[in-house]
Amino acid sequence: MFARSFVHQSSRQVSRHGSWVCNPHRAARGSLLLRTYASSANAPLAEKFAVNGDRLWEDIHYTAQWSAPSPGGLTRLCATEHDKHARDWFRDQVLALGADYKVNATGTQFAVFPGEDSSIAPIAMGSHLDSVATGGKFDGPLGVIGGLEVIRSMKEQGVKTRAPLVLINWTNEEGARFFPLLGSSIVYAGQSTVAEAHASLSNDHSGITMGSELAKIGYVGDGPNTFQEFPISAHFEIHVEQSTDLEKAGKPVGWVEGWQGMTWYSLELTGEDGHANTYKMYGRRDALQGAAKIITAVEALAYKHNGDSTVTNIISGPWGACNIQSNTKVSFCLMHKEAEGQLAMGSDIEKQIKGIAALHGLELKLKRDIYVPPGDFWPEAIDCVKRACGDKGIGSRTGTGHDSTMTTTLVPTAMVFVRAKDGISHSAKEWSDKDDCTEGALALGKAVLNFDELMKTKK
Ligand SMILES: [Zn+2]
Repeated sequence: MFARSFVHQSSRQVSRHGSWVCNPHRAARGSLLLRTYASSANAPLAEKFAVNGDRLWEDIHYTAQWSAPSPGGLTRLCATEHDKHARDWFRDQVLALGADYKVNATGTQFAVFPGEDSSIAPIAMGSHLDSVATGGKFDGPLGVIGGLEVIRSMKEQGVKTRAPLVLINWTNEEGARFFPLLGSSIVYAGQSTVAEAHASLSNDHSGITMGSELAKIGYVGDGPNTFQEFPISAHFEIHVEQSTDLEKAGKPVGWVEGWQGMTWYSLELTGEDGHANTYKMYGRRDALQGAAKIITAVEALAYKHNGDSTVTNIISGPWGACNIQSNTKVSFCLMHKEAEGQLAMGSDIEKQIKGIAALHGLELKLKRDIYVPPGDFWPEAIDCVKRACGDKGIGSRTGTGHDSTMTTTLVPTAMVFVRAKDGISHSAKEWSDKDDCTEGALALGKAVLNFDELMKTKK
């Protein structure tokens, strides 16, 4: 499918154009951009800014009705009818607020709100309304609905930024239904194409694609697909922490400084068909037995290298009670805080997989689908979030990828973490308290206002 590695933060430039289709004039970052972020104070507009926590909380729970049966949680897979309901709701909300609204070819929704100077590329707030299977109500929706709350509150309070703002609902960030993940932001960042995203196959191996399913729900639009077509000045995202650093520190929010390395692999083992009862053990070419050893090796690898690993998908055939398994596909991911450790895990497991396949006489197709080295968000964007959090926050790091992991390759990007009970995520037990969600949305709004102020210092 996709064999790529991306070098993050390769084009750290701020665009100065804000129209839907234009050639970005990438002004090099000047030292002026650094001028204000030594201060711990918030921008004047940020000091007075407030959000409506009741409204945010109600919307998080109201929109959770659009889900496959998922007691207490959320199963809103990308491009399903449930996803369509959530998207339609989002569209209606932003249109009611006067947004210039577009949907692009990968289904991502953009809602642009004017600032005082329409020649500046908008400051973005974004995350995803679609979810994993058997997920929680917060992973994704909090980022989009938190951004919506910021826009609503700004309107009510007459807060006008100089830069336009854009609220984004990115498509298929989780890769829960279609692989690969970051399904739309990866195209926006120029790491993939619309055609590749449309061809993304569903993880249930039914052969359906993201493109066909998006078309079915009416979400293949003509809006901008790439940064070149629609540049932004910065990207800010609220997300549940998915870890326990904030909880341990007794803080509701955090500024996210960076992420750990992540590598996704997929492999296919092909052996030989045969009768499950009558074939002698010696000489079998059983793909599932090879896969079983590989799965065990992937787990042991994490302990050996002091990293983490997860086997995320397996499919084997032929189906039946009397067949030796002749074809098995496995997907897994490897995580490590250090780039060297991440690479060492990769080369170690590749060697082991080849050895296991050879031992069982299996043909092997092995792909490193996505390689994300560990990295840091942009200091000036982190600082905007840090000042927004004030003494209610601490610095933290994320263990996974987000749409911000893609936008950070283009423009100043940072994230706001919200305390998550016991660090649980991708589970119906995922929970963040109402007050913590409110603090998160407030920090998001203040961070955006801080960044807007920071850009004013640029000539
Ligand atoms: Zn997420």
